[in-house]
Amino acid sequence: MSDKKLPTVAYFSMEYGLDSDFKMYAGGLGILAGDYIKGAKDIDAPIVPIGLKWKQGYTDQKIGDDGRPYDSYYNYVYDFLEDTGVSVTVKVRETNVICKVWKCDQFGNNPLYLLDTDIPENGDAWITGQLYGWFGEERIAQEIVLGIGGVRAMRALGIEIDVYHFNEGHAALAATELIREKMCGGSSFEEAWKATREEVVFTTHTPIKEGNEEHPLGRLEYMGAYNGLTRDQMERIGGSPFNMTVAGLRLARISNGVAKLHGETSNLMWKEVAGRSPIIAITNAIHTPTWVDERITAAYEQNGDLWATHMEIKRELLSFIEKRTSISLNPDNLLIGFSRRAAPYKRSDLIFSRPDLIEPYLEDGKVQIVFSGKAHPLDDTGKKIVTNLVSMMKKYPKSVVFLENYDMTIGAKLTRGSDIWLNNPRRPLEASGTSGMKAAMNGVLNCSILDGWWPEACIDGENGWQIGDGFQTKDFEELDRHDSEALYDTLLNRVLPVYYDNRSKWVEMMRKSIETTRTEFATKRMLEEYYDLMYIKG
Ligand SMILES: *Cc1c(COP(=O)(O)O)cnc(C)c1O
Repeated sequence: MSDKKLPTVAYFSMEYGLDSDFKMYAGGLGILAGDYIKGAKDIDAPIVPIGLKWKQGYTDQKIGDDGRPYDSYYNYVYDFLEDTGVSVTVKVRETNVICKVWKCDQFGNNPLYLLDTDIPENGDAWITGQLYGWFGEERIAQEIVLGIGGVRAMRALGIEIDVYHFNEGHAALAATELIREKMCGGSSFEEAWKATREEVVFTTHTPIKEGNEEHPLGRLEYMGAYNGLTRDQMERIGGSPFNMTVAGLRLARISNGVAKLHGETSNLMWKEVAGRSPIIAITNAIHTPTWVDERITAAYEQNGDLWATHMEIKRELLSFIEKRTSISLNPDNLLIGFSRRAAPYKRSDLIFSRPDLIEPYLEDGKVQIVFSGKAHPLDDTGKKIVTNLVSMMKKYPKSVVFLENYDMTIGAKLTRGSDIWLNNPRRPLEASGTSGMKAAMNGVLNCSILDGWWPEACIDGENGWQIGDGFQTKDFEELDRHDSEALYDTLLNRVLPVYYDNRSKWVEMMRKSIETTRTEFATKRMLEEYYDLMYIKG
């Protein structure tokens, strides 16, 4: 990073994973944002995070007696939030909505400003109720508060901003406010858009088409999301229907994907979008003090006994599992960790695809697997995936465990105490996969398809394993068959022999895993790249 005074960046994100009990997050996007603003604090980077104060957060998802996932929501109250005394107003469906601004710097993070509509004066107090709850109109209302309200909050707080960073498309409506402000100052729409583009940068996160949110223009208009712009102007920004990612790409001077491969994938995916910014790649990273066990770091740095330290942490994971499920796994046998959102492309059940191959190992416990992950409350396919994993736990009670209600506590335990970290998405649909970084730095060996961040780190057979060879096809049946074969080959012929017959090689690999990832995939490197390549104009 250059020595010049760094630009001040307003960082917009729908979710922040700062702490397990602060329910402002759902999954990977939020974990990244939480780690980002902790990392910013560590290096004194002037990044000002903005989000929404969720009353209920994301779903609490428990498994019922029938083996299926059920959602519950609770009203959470946090006594550590600081009242800034500031509130701003946005218009939703022609009605004024007051957004109270809270401040939170509780978790070693840069002060985070959270907008909250849950106050008695509001008829529309529900807007900041559930993170990714509901759909359509509700989501637009939330995005009006985050984007338009977020810019107004910066003004009301008197914080001068040089760069606006939209972390995912949710914040794209912020640009309508930036454009409107300039038009109020006398600029034409063209001039205002051009000037706004100079101050906006955008990060895209999902290579799944359907994951990129779209809204019919008429609905945006009805909700008040035009914010003074015309239909024609909105259509030029986001198309019709209005796509939040397309809007982000056209509103920014530069955009990025979250790993090198994802950068390439995004360029292909959005190739046809006229007038968009270039998409570069900045690979995600993790906040190491949050995710890496101090004991493993100490053992690594002081050339101590990595294996004994790992076993101590693994035993803690096993007692955590036992407390929650009454299942006691065998500490001497291989433990595979797998925690992911329940989405079909992540293929959590790929390892069960050939029972004839895997069953003997599950029956004698030589392969043990711990799963965790939530399905989106409205996603029936995801819920079937969870139900299927739970049924595997019933089928192989000695060796398969599913931990309900995946959260940061479970994430941290699994990425510290498993022996290997399995990841087998349909390439190239995993954008980054930061849980693999957590595992790698804890000496938990990645065993993964060459997707997301892993092609950048993997030295096959030395710091982990690759599954397959980066094969890709649009024919999912063929892809799944190919990858299933590759998975069994890697696991049974390459991983198991080292685990059971060559402990010294295993420990050497643990050391190499930590060595090759601890700096490269830590937030400092990522933040420096955001400053050098995105925030500071060349
Ligand atoms: C790290 C983490 C994630 C992100 O992991 P992926 O590898 O992207 O699946 C999601 N949720 C929780 C709770 C995490 O700790």
